[in-house]
Amino acid sequence: MRAVCHRCQFILERCLCAQISPVFNKTSLIILQHPGEKKHALNTVKLMEKIFQHIHVFSGELFADDEKLHSLLKSKKTALLFPGPDSQLLESSACDITQVILLDGTWKKAKKIYYLNPFLQSLPKMALKRETPSLYRIRQSSLEGSLSTLEAAVCALAVLEPELDCASATNAFKSMIDFQIEKMGQKTFESNYKKKGDE
Ligand SMILES: [Zn+2]
Repeated sequence: MRAVCHRCQFILERCLCAQISPVFNKTSLIILQHPGEKKHALNTVKLMEKIFQHIHVFSGELFADDEKLHSLLKSKKTALLFPGPDSQLLESSACDITQVILLDGTWKKAKKIYYLNPFLQSLPKMALKRETPSLYRIRQSSLEGSLSTLEAAVCALAVLEPELDCASATNAFKSMIDFQIEKMGQKTFESNYKKKGDE
């Protein structure tokens, strides 16, 4: 067992405490996390829990009977961040949304959660207009343009709370990725993860 920092929960040699400072978001963030993601070294939810306010994480695949989750859904105007043919751009319909659900998992696992939980299908679905590429260089989804859960939250908050400063979330995320690249070695990173023309 490697020693873990008791504050940030990352292993000591990759302690992110110095990079973590709070973001004071008012919008609630609900994360439905696929169980397969929980143990992943590069999962961003652990980091998000240290940084954001009003964040609620639920782990599993089936959420129909989760009382805590459903009482949260009743309390606020909620949108599901889930890009698809019938989703609207968050930018064009954001005004009264005070709570956002994010599905944390690979695209395939996120889709599974979506189809297994009909209550999600009845929520307004929102997609983000993408202007910057993901920094998630070492866990790229096969789906072009997909973001880590942390980045998706930052993008959504930029629309919903334009005054909010999310720099500390983005910076902590960058540090997490940099540590990981350092650990695997620059050579492995370049041969396995860097795309052609991605200089
Ligand atoms: Zn730490």
